[in-house]
Amino acid sequence: MARISTAHTSIDFDKAGKQVGFVSIPHSPHEDAWGAVRIPLAVIGNGAGPTAILMGGNHGDEYEGPITLGELIRDLDPAEVNGRLIFLPALNLPAVVAGRRVSPVDGLNLNRTFPGDPIGTITQQISAYVSDVIFPMGDAMLDLHSGGSSLDIMPSAVIEPAPSEEHRRRNAAAALAFGAPLTVVIDNLGDPRTSTASSVRVGMTTVGTEMAGGGTVSLNALQICRRGVRNVLAHLGVLPSATPAPVEGDRKIFRIPGPPGFVYATTDGVFEPAHRLGTMVRAGEQAGRVHNLADPGRTPETLYYQADGMVYGRRQPGRVVAGNCCVTVASLYEGSLP
Ligand code: CA
Repeated sequence: MARISTAHTSIDFDKAGKQVGFVSIPHSPHEDAWGAVRIPLAVIGNGAGPTAILMGGNHGDEYEGPITLGELIRDLDPAEVNGRLIFLPALNLPAVVAGRRVSPVDGLNLNRTFPGDPIGTITQQISAYVSDVIFPMGDAMLDLHSGGSSLDIMPSAVIEPAPSEEHRRRNAAAALAFGAPLTVVIDNLGDPRTSTASSVRVGMTTVGTEMAGGGTVSLNALQICRRGVRNVLAHLGVLPSATPAPVEGDRKIFRIPGPPGFVYATTDGVFEPAHRLGTMVRAGEQAGRVHNLADPGRTPETLYYQADGMVYGRRQPGRVVAGNCCVTVASLYEGSLP
């Protein structure tokens, strides 16, 4: 049964051609009793081909995806499209406007709220709209992330694990079609509340990304993202197959191997990494040190890797408190497809 929602849009999802508008979700704070949060929404439709959903701004401080999607909205001619593209390029709008990972309205991380709650807070209402209205229209979903303010991550296409072999193959083929230098399986420790986990649950071919980070725009990652999104859309048959650029890398798949893939700070201080991103490391090797700058006589605390693999991501700000993620390792994936 459909959940009750006050979200509304003037976009007609079944109409051919290009429409650029908003989905408005009523929001009633002190300064705007009958106002709304207007989330950008665009649809480009042409014929009976597949529907691809393209999302950016799930986190408000990750920019390569939203820039790429804005360009596609402006540049694509509906005649180039076979099927339908649904764009939500600034999904958690209050977070995007604030340039922050989480919403300043309710403090929530949109990507930990799926499938959402249409009578919950504004962030929960956004994920509910995506779950209830947008996802049922899709054959495929791309959610374009970067590392955000606290992480710098090797630009990569991301595979969300799926329960069936057929679905796993579909997700892996689409992620490999992106043509990023790295393709990595990330399950967020099995968290069911992400957009990609939610999209897999409803059967969609699902692709994620991690594109650098540090709360800035990486020229290199932006190039990879622009090319990769078009590559995936060509792979899905929504854009002509003449469009894709050659696929980069050796098509090896990596995987964050659960908890051992994360090196957490064990004390407060400043983290000094031992290796650059992309370095191959071994479990037990030194990952870095945490310095107590206020007490220089004290020996820095050493952190160690717990998995063999590649230094895939690292914390961006130097300051850490105990529990912060300092380094992430991705291991070569040697089993059958995830
Ligand atoms: Ca993110």
